[in-house]
Amino acid sequence: MAERRRQPSTATSTDVRRVLGVPDRLAVGIDIGGTKIAAGVVDEDGRVIDRARRDTPTTDPDEVLEAIADIVEEFRKDHIVKALGVGAAGFVDASASTVLFAPHLAWRNEPLRDRVARRTKLPVWVDNDANATGWAEWRFGAAQNEADLVMITLGTGIGGALVIDGQPYRGNFGIAGEFGHMQVVPRGRSCECGNSGCWEQYASGRVLERRARAAVEEGSRIGKVLVELAGGPDLVTGQQVTVAAQQGDDEAIEWLAEVGDWLGVGIANLAAALDPGVFVIGGGVSSAGLLLLDPARQAFSRSLTGRGYRAEARIVGAHLGPEAGMIGAADMARLTARRRRPASPGARVRVRGAARSGRSRRPRR
Ligand SMILES: [Zn+2]
Repeated sequence: MAERRRQPSTATSTDVRRVLGVPDRLAVGIDIGGTKIAAGVVDEDGRVIDRARRDTPTTDPDEVLEAIADIVEEFRKDHIVKALGVGAAGFVDASASTVLFAPHLAWRNEPLRDRVARRTKLPVWVDNDANATGWAEWRFGAAQNEADLVMITLGTGIGGALVIDGQPYRGNFGIAGEFGHMQVVPRGRSCECGNSGCWEQYASGRVLERRARAAVEEGSRIGKVLVELAGGPDLVTGQQVTVAAQQGDDEAIEWLAEVGDWLGVGIANLAAALDPGVFVIGGGVSSAGLLLLDPARQAFSRSLTGRGYRAEARIVGAHLGPEAGMIGAADMARLTARRRRPASPGARVRVRGAARSGRSRRPRR
């Protein structure tokens, strides 16, 4: 896991509780991906103190429910947990209770929150995995002490999440943050979503993958480099492009710079609409670090509306790594359960007054 910044006051209050023998308020966070379920017991400071993993049962929704219940039962042997948060790769409705559609899972209008709550007897919170990740970065990671967060997750496609004025923003229909399908090139490359010129066709892992595969097929110099790194022509993905670039391969560096350039262009559009203080870049492709972020920052400065006459948002890499989803899900579940408002997570997490007065912006415990 990446380095974690902490506010000393928080660590102190935790230590005090520990000395006094008062158990931490623990919550379980479960991140349900297309192939793996990753789960953890998470404390109030966003630390994962216990972990579990399972393969995702992809055909039967009941099996996913069983897997969740099983994990929770396992954790409860060693921990007193107060809430359960589930982040799922799919569309979740705005009331954070129903998975409307999950492309890699069998869920269609699955009332996940209520079913899991009945099964585990815990207060349950459900959201899209990107929202959970964004929440974790805002609370404990790269966007601590910011009023707003725009998180951009670069994987095969582009996902994202918003925290606005200390509150997760899902939109009216629960699908805010699908930045990957903003059109950046009129009549551009066709996209799986049915439109063309979508941002993720220019600035995601898919671009690197497409190029890598073409290079392998052509048998070009870099194609051979990538095959060598992957251990075989069929194993080549976008990841080897990042590795080759980190080893100094000029062409791979160029490919990443191009993706970074498009990233910066899209971020400038988001800045025009949302004007946050920070953009946090996560997901697998962000492991390229400065090879991606530097070109993105340059393109951002170049494309920004009112450039030269305004302060510029920071563009930074995510801090929490792949466990951010479970951390965010657990934290939101814990906060929601504490405030006994299961239908509206985040509603009481508003810290508007605190932000303005310059006090700690963290939700009160
Ligand atoms: Zn699209």
